[in-house]
Amino acid sequence: MTWYVFITLAIFVFAVAQWLRKQIDAALGHRRLIKRHRLGIPLPPEPRPDPICGCLHHLAFHDPRTGRCNGTAPEATKWKDDPYGQKVPIAWKTAPCPCLRYVGPEQPADAADTPPPMPVDDPPPGDSGPG
Ligand SMILES: [Zn+2]
Ligand SMILES: [Zn+2]
Repeated sequence: MTWYVFITLAIFVFAVAQWLRKQIDAALGHRRLIKRHRLGIPLPPEPRPDPICGCLHHLAFHDPRTGRCNGTAPEATKWKDDPYGQKVPIAWKTAPCPCLRYVGPEQPADAADTPPPMPVDDPPPGDSGPG
């Protein structure tokens, strides 16, 4: 055998090992989900979609009082006619985003501002502590 046969074999073995690892990971993940279901453990919540507005800016760019977006957007400054009689922009400048209100995925109100509730540890009655 020559050296390139060894290299080809090594690449093939590596690819098969990667494929096998992926299959085993998927099977174990599925088994884990079935076990959680049998034990009555609720599934983890679906990850929320990113709060991206229709203007392609994040929710954080939008003023909470006025709703206006503080991001920037390209604005066409030069146009030219294409062969079909349509105006096509050929030059842009940066301008304030024209978005007036966030329209992206709904976010839970004040979820980021509200701290989680503190656990309440009441001492058992009659227990006055050490001493
Ligand atoms: Zn927006
Ligand atoms: Zn925007």
